[in-house]
Amino acid sequence: MFTGACAACKHQKKRCPPDCPLAPYFRKKDDFVRVHRLFGLNNVVKMLERVGDHERPKMAETIIMEAKIRRDNPVHGSLAVKAQLEAEIDACRKELDFVQKQLNFLKKATEINKEKEQLEAKLDKCPLGIQYKENAGEGSSSKSCA
Ligand SMILES: [Zn+2]
Repeated sequence: MFTGACAACKHQKKRCPPDCPLAPYFRKKDDFVRVHRLFGLNNVVKMLERVGDHERPKMAETIIMEAKIRRDNPVHGSLAVKAQLEAEIDACRKELDFVQKQLNFLKKATEINKEKEQLEAKLDKCPLGIQYKENAGEGSSSKSCA
């Protein structure tokens, strides 16, 4: 599966044993160096041992991501990512709200248009000869029941 020493063992300048607990998760030197600086080797091993086999890959991925986030934002760390994502969610909610308002407006406009067409159709069939004027003034059109 993996050949050569894992990044953790290379960093410690020791031989990587076949049952190295870090070998499956730390292949890139940069990932391991960041994780090592943030958590320390013993803590990383302890964290990985605390979870079941099926959760270990995800935990290693999370530890690596935490170390990258902490490198990029040493003051706020993951909270900065959380704040950014919340701001994006808020912006998306506002946009969704605006789009829903537009949609509602267009639905109402469509309903009004349908009602208008139905009324015009009734007027066309009207036997009384009543004139119906649309938009009185320039460009107006009129219909009559003739
Ligand atoms: Zn190793």
